[in-house]
Amino acid sequence: MGEKILIMNEGKNQCPKCGSAQFITDPNQYDVLEFNNGVFDIIRSESTADEFKIFCGECFTEIDQDTSVDENQIILKTDG
Ligand SMILES: [Zn+2]
Repeated sequence: MGEKILIMNEGKNQCPKCGSAQFITDPNQYDVLEFNNGVFDIIRSESTADEFKIFCGECFTEIDQDTSVDENQIILKTDG
């Protein structure tokens, strides 16, 4: 059964802090993103900014976009 694998895959695509699977860019712009197969997919966009930060859609922790793509799992940005 693929259910267990599906749960594991979902886990690494979620915020490690609150478990949200949806991410936003600038909190004022409300682009909504999901992390699938090592890339951030914009599933709903209200802006066309070339460069953007990514935050968790629930707890608004900033996501380390480059590291998340490198590691193929959601990595939170750390200070310093
Ligand atoms: Zn979160």
